[in-house]
Amino acid sequence: MLRNDQLEQWDRENFFHPSTHLGQFARGEAPQPVIKTAKGCHITDRDGTRLLDAFAGLYCVNVGYGRPEIAEAIAEQAKELAYYHAYVGHGTEASITLAKMVLDRAPAGMSKVYFGLGGSDANETNIKLVWYYNNILGRPEKKKIISRWRGYHGSGLMTGSLTGLATFHNKFDLPLSPILHTAAPYYLRRPDQSMSEAAFVAYCVSELEAMIEAEGADTIAAFIGEPLMGTGGIVPPPAGYWPAIQEVLDRHDILLIADEVVTGFGRLGSMFGSDHYGMRPDLITIAKGLTSAYAPLSGSIVGEKMWKVLEQGTDENGPIGHGWTYSAHPIGAAAGIANLKLIDALNLVQAAGTTGAYLNAALKDAVGGHAHVGEVRGEGMIAAVEFMEDPGKGTFFDPSKTIGARVSAELLRDGVIARAMPQGDILGFAPPFCLTEAEADEIAGKTAKAVAAVLG
Ligand code: PLP
Repeated sequence: MLRNDQLEQWDRENFFHPSTHLGQFARGEAPQPVIKTAKGCHITDRDGTRLLDAFAGLYCVNVGYGRPEIAEAIAEQAKELAYYHAYVGHGTEASITLAKMVLDRAPAGMSKVYFGLGGSDANETNIKLVWYYNNILGRPEKKKIISRWRGYHGSGLMTGSLTGLATFHNKFDLPLSPILHTAAPYYLRRPDQSMSEAAFVAYCVSELEAMIEAEGADTIAAFIGEPLMGTGGIVPPPAGYWPAIQEVLDRHDILLIADEVVTGFGRLGSMFGSDHYGMRPDLITIAKGLTSAYAPLSGSIVGEKMWKVLEQGTDENGPIGHGWTYSAHPIGAAAGIANLKLIDALNLVQAAGTTGAYLNAALKDAVGGHAHVGEVRGEGMIAAVEFMEDPGKGTFFDPSKTIGARVSAELLRDGVIARAMPQGDILGFAPPFCLTEAEADEIAGKTAKAVAAVLG
């Protein structure tokens, strides 16, 4: 293809990029990477610069880039049937088959899957289903949703409200009022350094109990959480957190939504994070790993308890008033089928567990002993390095020093993409599951160099 030398200008003049400093970008003060090709764990930009993508896009290209099996499945589907809708009971061979494949892999007690396009719209669906459920059960007051500070659930009106990160609220008039936020299960940032992990779990539980008590259990419909917190800092839960939270929710008849957009389909080395941590969700959000981002597709997996009530609702009120034009899009469904087949054929869930453990260990070896590394943490194929001013005293750097962003920029100059997480000096890693041990060593070695360049 001929190189279009106006592309950068067109980009600045016409393209509204998400999560971008708009003024700097439009004025040409920000980088404009244009990605052209990708294979395995590497992406290449239009200038020929090749980078090791240790964040798999936005932790979504789980099977790695350039898989012909998925590309061909998409092309075949587009030729045979590019589109038909799913309203009023319509299906396609691809969407029906994928629904069966998802349920075959889902945790126990799940009944049906509703397909959307991305994680945000799937969580919007979930909140509507929760409200519908309580209306059908004659509990119109039971509507509030409890999320966690630092949780990430999308950036729509409702889902941006669920998200517990200030950047997604400020100047957008969010969060909306039926959303409450409770403590993040973030042991490194515990309120009192002397707290044991067990005492910290008890603290998280007591915060939740106090919120339920203050609001009234009869006003609280659901609790939403990622099995392992992602965008809020890549934070595995402290031991025993989920069983303890689950007990509180069961006692107050509060539904659990497991947001598995990042963890679903293998990232923790288990098919689902809910099984990994002993959660018993009523709804599960899936997206990224469902198609490894080869096509946009998400889903809400609905548990049996809720499904029965949804059926009762439509028996009483007629067809459910919820749907998108592109729900269960056949091209997304074809990508999903090919992706899940590939995950099975190449044993990629197991690989995420074993190579992920190797990566986590390599990062610990490489930077765990640095004076300004507070923690190297992770699970399966996801990891984070958190920088602190003084780990012994529990003090963090002043955010204006932008330590995390500077280490990430240094690493990028050395050919590795790791993500500076948005709240804190945290470097995130979530590579494709096909990462090799040699690539894991490269990530760890270059991270150590970047840390030394910024922090000495
Ligand atoms: N939920 C979680 C846990 C996520 O990490 C994300 C995106 O990163 C979303 C929901 C939102 O998904 P999307 O960006 O596809 O709308």
